[in-house]
Amino acid sequence: MKKIAIIGAGISGLCIANLFKDHKDYQVTIYEKRNSIEMEEGYGIQLSVNSVKLLNKMGFTSFDEKEKFNPKKIDFYEIRNSKKICDLDISKFNSEDCKYTTLKRSKLIQFLKNKLDENIIKYNHSIEQIDYDKDSIKLIFNKNKITCDYLIISDGVFSKGKSLIASNKSKPIYNDTIAIRGSISRENLQNINEENISLFLGADFHCVVYPINNNKNCNFIGILKHKLSSNEQENHNLFTESSFVKNIKLKLSQKVSQSFLQSLQNIQLFPIFVSKNLYNPPKNIFLLGDAFFAFSPSFAQGASQSIEGANELYECLINNNNFYDIRLKRVKMINSRSNFNQFAFHLSNPIMTTFRNIFLKLLTNNKKFLQSYLGKIYKS
Ligand SMILES: Cc1cc2nc3c(=O)[nH]c(=O)nc-3n(C[C@H](O)[C@H](O)[C@H](O)COP(=O)(O)OP(=O)(O)OC[C@H]3O[C@@H](n4cnc5c(N)ncnc54)[C@H](O)[C@@H]3O)c2cc1C
Repeated sequence: MKKIAIIGAGISGLCIANLFKDHKDYQVTIYEKRNSIEMEEGYGIQLSVNSVKLLNKMGFTSFDEKEKFNPKKIDFYEIRNSKKICDLDISKFNSEDCKYTTLKRSKLIQFLKNKLDENIIKYNHSIEQIDYDKDSIKLIFNKNKITCDYLIISDGVFSKGKSLIASNKSKPIYNDTIAIRGSISRENLQNINEENISLFLGADFHCVVYPINNNKNCNFIGILKHKLSSNEQENHNLFTESSFVKNIKLKLSQKVSQSFLQSLQNIQLFPIFVSKNLYNPPKNIFLLGDAFFAFSPSFAQGASQSIEGANELYECLINNNNFYDIRLKRVKMINSRSNFNQFAFHLSNPIMTTFRNIFLKLLTNNKKFLQSYLGKIYKS
């Protein structure tokens, strides 16, 4: 039996463990640095049909209907005048049991965790050292040492596992944007269709509001352009410092209405770091999820790609195919779309935004374009 060690119990690590857990030829163990799985309540996640299809294989069809939502459209608005630009029917990519889904991130994590035996996850295991040669892989954690046949590194965008094998050559870079996360009650949302995803476009800022279940609360995520000095980027406490939070809220108040800002709850700020380059690890070591490549969030594909990547890696290991090359193609395609979305969503020049809006109206009704821009991603 081959031993697989997985570093990190996020969406990607939990997914790959779920895929291998019943395979008689493999034994999986997840090593997680925290003392429990991160279950921060409240914040939402979008799953496009490509990942829902794969989750269904893990039993997602029986996921509680009350705890998820299936938006039909993305409604595009201009922030400055709240005027609707156009809408995009994402339900066109749905099938009977496979629909674009929004839900709380914690509910997805809980679903993936509950499908695993308790003893698969070893908590309080932070990776310290990785030694490998062509025959074996040795891992050193703060407490103990283990050996394995395959190592899957899925410890997120700031992957320590990756920096250990890549000698810090593949660090993520700050994307000059801050994510503002929060929740908002449906009753505070006026003039929008609360059954859909609402995407507001503004100068150097865009935000998205969507329901995460059948209850009252909606998820809010804003992406604000904001430069940080290198000292600020290194400062892990910056995003909870009251003067910094106040400054960002002030910037936000210039983008959204006062009443909207006041109805936002549980606001939290996160710097957005993205991958700059790719790293092909040595034999029998694999990077997964954000550790493989972290995208800008403007295409909402991070979690879906973590799920898709896990499935690809499973298939590749079983069939002895080259995972890196297969994943690379997908990553390049999604990364270019994510970067283009961010550029188009944040335009500030009035002439450019007028053209953008005209194109948006045309393209959201153009079947060929939608098939090529979204269909290629959603129907993998
Ligand atoms: C603002 C924002 C909004 C987003 N919105 C969406 C969205 O709507 N839809 C979507 O699909 N995606 C979204 N994403 C992206 C998505 O959240 C990530 O791509 C996804 O969670 C990556 O999962 P992961 O398992 O690779 O990493 P993570 O979720 O980061 O998990 C990594 C795990 O590894 C553990 N770990 C870390 N270091 C170590 C170590 N040294 N040793 C052992 N364990 C370790 C951590 O504790 C954690 O449990 C968003 C991202 C951002 C920043």
